[in-house]
Amino acid sequence: MKYFIETYGCQMNKYDSELVAGILEGAGYCPSLRPEDADVILVNTCSVRQHAEQRVLQRLNSFKALKLERPDLKIGVLGCMAQRLGEKILVEKPFIDFVIGPDSYRNILQVLNGVHSEQRESSPKIFLNEYESKETYADVCPVRVRGVNAWVAVMRGCNNYCTYCIVPYVRGRERSRSAQNVIEEIRRLVDEGFVEVTLLGQNVNSYWDGEHDFADLLAMVAKVEGIERVRFATSHPKDLSEKLVRVIAENEKICNHIHLPVQSGSTRILQLMNRHYSREDFLAKVEMIRKYLNPVGLTTDIIVGFPGEEEDDFRQTVELVREVEFDSAFVFKYSPRPGTRAAQFDDMVSAAEKTRRLEEINTLQKEITKSKNRQLIGQRGVILVEGRSKKSETDVMGRLETNKIVVIPNTILPKGKLVEVTIVGADGVTLFGRVNHQN
Ligand code: SF4
Repeated sequence: MKYFIETYGCQMNKYDSELVAGILEGAGYCPSLRPEDADVILVNTCSVRQHAEQRVLQRLNSFKALKLERPDLKIGVLGCMAQRLGEKILVEKPFIDFVIGPDSYRNILQVLNGVHSEQRESSPKIFLNEYESKETYADVCPVRVRGVNAWVAVMRGCNNYCTYCIVPYVRGRERSRSAQNVIEEIRRLVDEGFVEVTLLGQNVNSYWDGEHDFADLLAMVAKVEGIERVRFATSHPKDLSEKLVRVIAENEKICNHIHLPVQSGSTRILQLMNRHYSREDFLAKVEMIRKYLNPVGLTTDIIVGFPGEEEDDFRQTVELVREVEFDSAFVFKYSPRPGTRAAQFDDMVSAAEKTRRLEEINTLQKEITKSKNRQLIGQRGVILVEGRSKKSETDVMGRLETNKIVVIPNTILPKGKLVEVTIVGADGVTLFGRVNHQN
């Protein structure tokens, strides 16, 4: 039997697809590169924005024709949308065979055996998470595409209830894997040839296994022999501790890159978002990070057009972006998610105004990114070679520890090697480098 998984959304979802592949391959299923060749099609979905859900619904419709051609084909919806909509998906799209929420993937074989069996009608087709789920999939071996970087989830769920976010409702309460279990997985990754790991969680800063916090875990991972670089995502500003930043500063292998979503520069809006920090708190964290880490890549997420965001609130966000000078920012228009508190707030910002605000911040950030990149020309840095550049077969690309991508034209370098380069150019947001030849 062959399976095909299509994944939408965040890196956690991509990791979850690797877990599902691990469960299926453990039971003898083989991967298929094309849905047309698969016996089982799985769509791992995202609910974070309305647009993401609409894309998935359209995509599901495109699989309907395959189901009509081959009635034995099984189609399953996984992930956050499966958890959020549950039975509604089966009612509205009867060609879908089953839905499984993010903490219930261990049931996938039971579901598949059921839909392949004689008792199809009585077999369960819906497995949703329990709110207090303790699932961490600690004993499941994810199936990864061989490469340089592997993603490793160290915790699941979120307790923060930011008012715009659906994650705590679909992924449940926070729970962490034990540090020992994470280290064992990373040792296996080294044996498989990975040299970089990115530790993943909705809010890694609140990692706690009963004995170790996230700073302890990072320091332990950095000691694993064969690992050259350690990254992590995502940090909540309220939980980013000085201890953690010191651990990053003290360990050469832990990359000086922090993705720190600010979301808004207005304390009033941050309160409405239930973020538990003020504009001043955020700026103090940035100052603390820059006191210990130099250079440091600082990136962020921003939501524009949150309900009640007035021009003055927005200007405060613009000013914060100008003041902090992030290396890059992902800017999103607020998208109401049914079931969240903010979806019931009044005072919606118009679609046109959201677009204007998004474009203003994107234009400003692009200028900042370009200017910061130009300042790097002439400087030396070490890249971890990831492979061929996306744009040219003759160029190689790698990342600085700050997460900036550097392209080295017309060269051949082995994947997974650390190489010292000099930055020789910056074109827009792309940096170009030259290999420093050592004697
Ligand atoms: S910290 Fe806030 S934005 Fe992030 S996953 Fe949790 S609730 Fe969502």
